[in-house]
Amino acid sequence: MNGVSLITGASRGIGRGIALELAKIGCDLVINCASNLPAAERTSADCLAAARAVGKTIRAEVCPANIGISADRLKLIEFARAQFGRLDLLVNNAGIAPEVRADILEATEESFDRLISVNVKGPYFLTQLAARWMIEQGRAGVSPVPFAPKIITITSISAYTASVNRGDYCVAKAALSMLTPLYAARLADHGINVYEIRPGIIATDMTGPVKEKYDRLIAEGLTPIKRWGTPEDVGRAVAAIARDLLPFSTGEVINVDGGFHIRRL
Ligand code: NAP
Repeated sequence: MNGVSLITGASRGIGRGIALELAKIGCDLVINCASNLPAAERTSADCLAAARAVGKTIRAEVCPANIGISADRLKLIEFARAQFGRLDLLVNNAGIAPEVRADILEATEESFDRLISVNVKGPYFLTQLAARWMIEQGRAGVSPVPFAPKIITITSISAYTASVNRGDYCVAKAALSMLTPLYAARLADHGINVYEIRPGIIATDMTGPVKEKYDRLIAEGLTPIKRWGTPEDVGRAVAAIARDLLPFSTGEVINVDGGFHIRRL
């Protein structure tokens, strides 16, 4: 048993990959989704099976909640409290792409507001709720598993890469990047380490519509490691943090991008 992890957007894609890797190291899980309950239930069942396959028994409870809505964020935290009574790891993973990739000279305010609400405001205030509860738990003393709480936020290479046909997504991810230094600085005295994981091009539903474009770019050498990333790649980085392998690092950015961020000449 490795405590309790809450993963937003764990029904599909990267969040599901994170849940599976955390299950394998024995974490109990809160599996959040926006609305796709069948996919979330599938992730839950697959996590129980993945844990069982390595001789571990875990719980994986599903809680639908829209992280862009204040009352839903509260519901999610209260669900974790009622189900498990503790929280060791929050993974801010849920995020959305614009419905249409529109040139920044044409893109709408409506799309901008939608992305800021889910990709920035959601994780920012969910982290506030989780951090308050983690501080409370630290003061009260939590047992029997040692308490070394952590917060991980999944951003993107779009935090620093200009894609002029989805500026709202880039601006949202750049803003989200500031969450980690802020909370790392604020929470260090409480023994809470905070990390950003910055994925590159990962094969999920989100990138499905642009598969051919990225297939070509990767084949042409866009990334030093010439393959698509997988949800498992991101999940393994999260599991390393959950296992407490980076205890003297906080506010850190971990690139899981096949080397995309390396400037080359
Ligand atoms: P995905 O396949 O589209 O899955 C999105 C997940 O987030 C689903 O579980 C979805 O739930 C959930 N979700 C969406 N809106 C939500 C909301 N308002 N409240 C709660 N949950 C919500 O996306 P992905 O590719 O796995 O991306 C996951 C994260 O990684 C995102 O933050 C994304 O920006 C980031 N990222 C992705 C890539 C990539 O190449 N794929 C690269 C860098 C960063 P439902 O199933 O209920 O819809």
